[in-house]
Amino acid sequence: MPDYPETPSAVEAGAILTIDLGAVRENYRQLRSRSGPAECAAVVKSDGYGLSAATIASALRREGCRTFFVAHASEGLSLRRTLGAGPAIYILNGVHPGAEESCMAADLIAVANSAPQLAAWKEAAQRHGKQNVPVAVQIDSGMSRLGISPDEVDEIAADTSAFEGLDLCLVLSHLACADEPSNPSNEAQRQTFDRLRRLLPPAPASLANSSGIYLGEPYHLDLVRPGAALYGINPTPGRVNPMLPVVGLQAKVIQTRRVDSDSGVGYGHAFRAAGPLDIATIALGYGDGWPRRAAAAAWVDGKVLPFVGRVSMDSIVIDISALSPHRLRPGDLVDLIGPRQTVDDLASCAQTIGYEILTGLGWRFHRRYLGG
Ligand SMILES: *Cc1c(COP(=O)(O)O)cnc(C)c1O
Repeated sequence: MPDYPETPSAVEAGAILTIDLGAVRENYRQLRSRSGPAECAAVVKSDGYGLSAATIASALRREGCRTFFVAHASEGLSLRRTLGAGPAIYILNGVHPGAEESCMAADLIAVANSAPQLAAWKEAAQRHGKQNVPVAVQIDSGMSRLGISPDEVDEIAADTSAFEGLDLCLVLSHLACADEPSNPSNEAQRQTFDRLRRLLPPAPASLANSSGIYLGEPYHLDLVRPGAALYGINPTPGRVNPMLPVVGLQAKVIQTRRVDSDSGVGYGHAFRAAGPLDIATIALGYGDGWPRRAAAAAWVDGKVLPFVGRVSMDSIVIDISALSPHRLRPGDLVDLIGPRQTVDDLASCAQTIGYEILTGLGWRFHRRYLGG
């Protein structure tokens, strides 16, 4: 199993994605130190928010991280092959009917989101004559997305055999509005979770995602589950980002040209030059996960090079009139994600969130991992 996934060579690829593992590790240390005595786990679902779960998890192992969360059983199986025995791997969506056996054999921990999921995990443990098989329970404390409802908690609490053969090793819940510190739902969910989890057998508790960590100590409990902040996304929207940036993106110039006044540029001629204009076409588009609606800019030598016209599947045209003539040649790189335009900046320009930008970045880029 290679530590890094396959990536096209820097010469062949149209764009270069740089992932700073040193920054991921520093972000992990910061989140851990923010969380007091709570254990700091790492959420690496959706292939580590698009940055490679295997690579990110291996780097965080070296920081002492021993607990990982993924969404799917398939992600868990693949992560187990990468990490080997030892680290705890939780399946947040729970295990789909029929997948209990393979997950149990790989020592994955099912997050039971419903009474039937819990029962299926228990029956699989019994079929194999196993004792103390770890299981987690997610309680729906108010997000109404995943987790055992308050009524079901009562039922499970009343059933003395609910955890037979199982070891309840974590009770968790997820906050709907953690990125809005003044939203009263946070405190309401915290109190609901506090009340419901006490009905179950005693177990470590977990409530906070990245933003939840910044809600303060009452939210930290025994274990915190940051994802986005590890990857440099701001867990405190509207305030200065406390995390280090992790991702850089540069695209290659394919060709440059001067167009005359009134030339239409790109599909639909959505842009028309007001006067003679120097433009460059760069090798990046929505086929790479760059959002089509993001009318953003590129940067070279600290100069802003605005997009002109529509984003195509494999190319974007930029206005390079801010540069001296002949500054850009085919193969030269322009900056698209970096200190001047962060993942969060790009997200707000595309009316989405940094999570969607990161998980969308495709595998056509040459990927460079720094600080591994
Ligand atoms: C995705 C997820 C997390 C991580 O959330 P971030 O906002 O990325 O920190 C934590 N817990 C659950 C249940 C999740 O689904």
